[in-house]
Amino acid sequence: MPPAYQIKAKVVMVGDAAVGKTSLVRRFVHDQFSDTYAVTLGAKVLARDTLALSPDGQEVAVRLAIWDIMGESSLLDEVSETFFHGAQGVVAVCDLTRYSTFERLPLWLRHVNQVAGSVPMALAVNKSDLQQEVLVLYDDYRVQQFAEEVGARWYMTSAKTGENVADLFSTLGQDITARALSTAPPPEFR
Ligand code: GDP
Ligand code: MG
Repeated sequence: MPPAYQIKAKVVMVGDAAVGKTSLVRRFVHDQFSDTYAVTLGAKVLARDTLALSPDGQEVAVRLAIWDIMGESSLLDEVSETFFHGAQGVVAVCDLTRYSTFERLPLWLRHVNQVAGSVPMALAVNKSDLQQEVLVLYDDYRVQQFAEEVGARWYMTSAKTGENVADLFSTLGQDITARALSTAPPPEFR
């Protein structure tokens, strides 16, 4: 039986340059990885379907249109509206080897929220395969705390090995589906 519903959702990748946004998308969509770095100019959109479950237990095909944008935060004021308009999900990416990239996530998320409102979000601490080579690791507690503050799930990912990459996108697809198909507000808001 084909899925009962089909949903299309725009997902935006945000985070500083070279954290691995393009690599995560390429891993998820094409199951490939490359060590060479090519700066993303403007934005590129790639799509892949994932399966989710509706609140009433039916299969849903979710087509994620993933917007991979350049990681130039100084241009955010100019490009936010264009890139983030209509986004239904966000993947915020930082780099395990550079703590500064984690510290700039609030800035990225503020811009997304200003344009798209509050939408399902996943946080990726990427390059987990380099764990052995980093001197000062992130404090898990800080990441956990930040994820809770912004209501995001968080993952240690590696675009290189593929660790948690499919999980991150499919769970985000599930969260987007739950939100899109939820008919009644949760009891506490009634
Ligand atoms: P973007 O600027 O955020 O799109 O970053 P890219 O995806 O272009 O990646 C920047 C650099 O980091 C490239 O040289 C990638 O090969 C490398 N890279 C990305 N993800 C990983 C990862 O999970 N592990 C390792 N070791 N390198 C990665
Ligand atoms: Mg890129």
